[in-house]
Amino acid sequence: MAGNDPRDLSVEAARLRLLGAVGPVAGVERIGLAEADGRVLAGPVHAPTALPREDAAALDGYALRGDDAVAGRRLRVVGRALAGAPWSGTVAPGTCARIMTGAVVPAGADTVIAQERVQADEGWITLDATLTAGANVRLAGEDAAAGEEMLGAGCRIDARVIALLAALGMVSVTVARPVRVGLLSTGSELRPPGTSLASGELYDSNRPMLAALLSRPCVSLRDLGTVPDDPEQLSARFAQTADLDLVIVTGGVSVGEADWVRPVLAQRGQLDFWRVAVKPGRPLVFGRLGNCWLMGLPGNPVSAYVTFRLFVEPVVQRLAGLPAREPLTLLVSIGEAVRHRADRTSFLRGRWIASTDGGRGVVPLPAQGSAMLSGLAQADCLIELPAGQTAFAAGTAVKVWPL
Ligand code: AMP
Ligand code: MG
Repeated sequence: MAGNDPRDLSVEAARLRLLGAVGPVAGVERIGLAEADGRVLAGPVHAPTALPREDAAALDGYALRGDDAVAGRRLRVVGRALAGAPWSGTVAPGTCARIMTGAVVPAGADTVIAQERVQADEGWITLDATLTAGANVRLAGEDAAAGEEMLGAGCRIDARVIALLAALGMVSVTVARPVRVGLLSTGSELRPPGTSLASGELYDSNRPMLAALLSRPCVSLRDLGTVPDDPEQLSARFAQTADLDLVIVTGGVSVGEADWVRPVLAQRGQLDFWRVAVKPGRPLVFGRLGNCWLMGLPGNPVSAYVTFRLFVEPVVQRLAGLPAREPLTLLVSIGEAVRHRADRTSFLRGRWIASTDGGRGVVPLPAQGSAMLSGLAQADCLIELPAGQTAFAAGTAVKVWPL
């Protein structure tokens, strides 16, 4: 391939342009907590009550008054409070109540001493330690004050968030509706797995890969199938995107004689075509078909994977109402010297190794071709080699994207 054009966008510039163009989908729905995992909150959640609702014991022991929490003091045990079975009496000076973790601290008491720190005999205890008033008590409202905003719009609901919502007594939440995404493969050579191949044909691997990458609760997928390199058929398929938010097309996005995505998009909608200074994955089609965004990725499966991670992932997150967040990457030392062309960012398929200092290192796998799915499937991570530097000596810290 010819050298990169100086007008090629950097990866960062391309991501900023995408995020500048796309906004969250409109539309919310109310769903039960059991369906909420992986969905995105449409608005803030306020605590309907304080959490905990009442002062409670943080451990098993005795509830007493702070003034009485002095080593050597002898207190009479006058009551018993369990989680779910509060004691309605009052702890007067010189007395205490047996209390178990989670039980409401009875009136009069403000402190809990652990059972291991007292000598107990026949309805009396003697303290082995002096405590500060308030010790071992979970105060009402210390986790959440009543009315406090606990979660904001754009929060991705996961098990931890579900636990918090349940603790607040909530049974349902308002979430953004799922993003409607269509998947379309283009290429006259493509056949579905399970069929026999004539010379020149190959199996469509991009659509199953993208379907797996997008299989998540905040996305509703539509399979638009495979279309040959034919402008009329492509145009007819584009007509099926009217109610989608995003269609992802692979193949046919470059400037070859059988590459129809750009001209058909220009005719039916708005076309934006960028070359991004990245390997693999230089051409990127971006545009609109009515209300549906279109992203066209290169047909080579490794290029399609890398450009999905770089460019489609942030767009889907934005459509879903999630905040734009940099992917979680690691800085890891590279186990052997590597080189690349400095006029673009490269992503190599890498594998973890143990590094000499006892930490984790990374080496590139042998199979680095853009069409070589073996290297991609075996990789532990993508190794990012930044533009502007050609040679990376062994031991250099490089950015890696765990897979
Ligand atoms: P293209 O981007 O159309 O020039 O295709 C580049 C290479 O990727 C060609 O070798 C195609 O056969 C291959 N390719 C295109 N689409 C797919 C697909 N859906 N699955 C597997 N390989 C593909
Ligand atoms: Mg093609």
